[in-house]
Amino acid sequence: LITRAQEHNEKIAILVPRGCANATTQGVFTYRDLLYTSGQIATNLLENADDLHEERVAFLIPPGFEYVATQWGIWRAGGIAVPLCVSHPRPELEYVITNSGASIIVAHPDFEDTLQAIAKSHNLRFILTSQTLPSHIANLPEVDITRRALILYTSGTTGKPKGVVTTHENIQAQVTSLVTAWEWTSSDRILHVLPLHHIHGIVNILTCALWAGAECHILSKFDAEVVWNRICDGDLTLFMAVPTIYVKLIAAWENAKSQQQKSMSAGCEKMRLMVSGSAALPVQVLQKWQTISGHFLLERYGMTEIGMALSNPLHGDRLPGYVGKPLPQVEVRLVDENGLVPPGTPGEIQVKGPTVFLEYWQNPQATAKAFQDGWFCTGDQAVVENGNYRILGRMSVDIIKTGGYKVSALEIEEVLRTHPDIQECAVVGVADIEWGERVCAALVLQGSQTLTLESLRSWAKEQLAVYKVPTQILIVEELPRNAMGKVTKPAVVELFRSSLL
Ligand code: ATP
Ligand code: MG
Repeated sequence: LITRAQEHNEKIAILVPRGCANATTQGVFTYRDLLYTSGQIATNLLENADDLHEERVAFLIPPGFEYVATQWGIWRAGGIAVPLCVSHPRPELEYVITNSGASIIVAHPDFEDTLQAIAKSHNLRFILTSQTLPSHIANLPEVDITRRALILYTSGTTGKPKGVVTTHENIQAQVTSLVTAWEWTSSDRILHVLPLHHIHGIVNILTCALWAGAECHILSKFDAEVVWNRICDGDLTLFMAVPTIYVKLIAAWENAKSQQQKSMSAGCEKMRLMVSGSAALPVQVLQKWQTISGHFLLERYGMTEIGMALSNPLHGDRLPGYVGKPLPQVEVRLVDENGLVPPGTPGEIQVKGPTVFLEYWQNPQATAKAFQDGWFCTGDQAVVENGNYRILGRMSVDIIKTGGYKVSALEIEEVLRTHPDIQECAVVGVADIEWGERVCAALVLQGSQTLTLESLRSWAKEQLAVYKVPTQILIVEELPRNAMGKVTKPAVVELFRSSLL
């Protein structure tokens, strides 16, 4: 990454557009700026040592140049970067800081109070990004790519977040796999609107862009109007986001005047690729986005532990509801209790290759449990149909075992979303003495609509086998989601449990 950056020197690396940054420095930063500032930060971190030797450095900085320079600075000082989430309350920040065993905290002044208090109570070195940096750059250690580079905490969709450790080599494999598959070049210009404590934002967008020598235009937070304005400028080549963001962009488009809509669509048409991932992309969203933007979203599948594993093709047909085929450098197989499954039969996705993480941080039991004969067990189930993978969901929460059947919550959700009165939904299995689990659906309705269980059931029976039809519904204002915008299924199960009391 460093040597590649040296080749791009005067090119723009990071651009933080005016008018949309609150806490971050606005402006244009070249690869030379990034190399220089990250060198200063590394020098500062190495005040008392000549190598951090995999010491953990936790940092909380809003998305922008300082964030990137700090991450690189930690790497160049020989440390492990532990990015913190800007929207986390103190207990969650403290969990990540203590779980990772960080010895240094770097904070943007916006978070000074909270983080200084945590640093004090655990006796950690505390650095503010507003501090003056050294005017010289020390002799920095050579980056050893077999070393641990990053600890990312999983989204916590299914339980307490786990610290996923990747080496520089792992990250390099994750990045080069995507750079090859999606043909990143130094002419690319991507708009970055995702959180920077999660693989999607850090690896797929930021690090791929910097590896390719491209421009990464970073917004400090997602705002539909700002994103549309940037798209209308017509200079972007790439955009990547999670399904909820596309939903919000569609809503903003629908509220715009027709003249505006034309320029929004024209801006999209100038791009070469738009990607969706991190959660299942509803087919309706894909179709709506296509009519608005002319882009058939490229959906891919991956997770913190393995980077990206499956992707629809850059060139050639993309199938709605499918995540395509294995990416370069990634081996994928589907397995059930009896071993490899034939096409058409559901199995657990298992992954092997240089993109796969090293370990769960200080959790050898969890690490050992996650591997089977050298293959990482994702806990997600899929099926191959006509050579393409279709994700059925997480075995722990999305595969519902009811009356002897195994049904995919994602499949039922996809059908329920086509109901004219339903805006959003989350299907879960709720423990039941008679059925094992019952299919239950939390629903957000369109506008002021109402819906009864009876009418939904009689409608759904026309489209789904009767054992897949929800036996209980709950109308909610909004679905519980985590910082990545993913629906937290255990929280949905909790809603049903408490409503049964
Ligand atoms: P935790 O592991 O803490 O429960 P998490 O699994 O949500 O959280 P991530 O690593 O951010 O943490 O997310 C990876 C998961 O997201 C995958 O295991 C898969 O269940 C889901 N996912 C990612 N892409 C897709 C996709 N295209 N379609 C369906 N699910 C997807
Ligand atoms: Mg997970």
